[in-house]
Amino acid sequence: MLVHLSDIVSQTGKTENMEVPVTVDVIKSELGSFKIAEKSPLHLQIINTGNKVLELTCDVKLVIPMPCDRCLKEVPVDFDLHFQSKLDMKQSREDRIKDLDESDYITGLDLDTDLLICNEVLINWPLKVLCKEDCKGICSRCGQNLNEGTCQCDRTSLDPRMAAISDIFSKFKEV
Ligand SMILES: [Zn+2]
Ligand SMILES: [Zn+2]
Repeated sequence: MLVHLSDIVSQTGKTENMEVPVTVDVIKSELGSFKIAEKSPLHLQIINTGNKVLELTCDVKLVIPMPCDRCLKEVPVDFDLHFQSKLDMKQSREDRIKDLDESDYITGLDLDTDLLICNEVLINWPLKVLCKEDCKGICSRCGQNLNEGTCQCDRTSLDPRMAAISDIFSKFKEV
């Protein structure tokens, strides 16, 4: 959603608190598109600290389901985001993009809160998604989810280190 900043930019010392609905439904990352399953409204505080500088404080909670890295089962990942941002409204759009080092969520005097949230989600993207700490993953031969049962596949030979060793042995045999 767009929040108009013209009022607050013109009033030094002014503080505004607002609740802004999150209107974005999908987060696009390098890994693909992820649907937002649950979201709270964004709590946004804007303080004009003078000299056309705005301080933003944002709080928002999202739940985004992601596949487990090992077994691909969907895991609800909580994003409990609390972040601050400083906007110098004297800067040109180009300078701001350089400073923020990310896509610009200000156009003219409008703040795009959805873009702001998307940026923050990407910054907080989990390095690892596991359905449980000791997830056993899936069998790479038959696709069986090994948390739910076992299969008859011989997976020992799939270990690349083992494969290298058995290669060496087979070469010895040939000689
Ligand atoms: Zn898993
Ligand atoms: Zn199997």
